Amino acid sequence: MKCLYCGKETQKDYCSQECQQKAEQYYQNQRKGMPVFAVVALIAIGIALLWNSPYRTTLSLILLGLDFIIFPFTKASTIRRSGIQKSMTIARCIGGIALLFGIVSYFFL
Ligand SMILES: [Zn+2]
Repeated sequence: MKCLYCGKETQKDYCSQECQQKAEQYYQNQRKGMPVFAVVALIAIGIALLWNSPYRTTLSLILLGLDFIIFPFTKASTIRRSGIQKSMTIARCIGGIALLFGIVSYFFL
């Protein structure tokens, strides 16, 4: 099986004590950060759907992008498949792309 944190081959759930600690830290942050993450995501979606302004795309993309960069949470299935470390990188990449599109859209809309 694979280490749940870094994805390396291992006999146990985690390949090292370090990975186990980091994973516990991640789940702790997720428990604490999830409500904030959800509220920011809802505000971003609300702005995109309800706010009648030319800047709504820009603002909602930037908000969503920052949300994912600060709280790099993904689905449990992604974590199982790729490990926590990789899933955080994926979430931050998605956030970075959203942020970039948000900034670019400011100049083109
Ligand atoms: Zn590991």
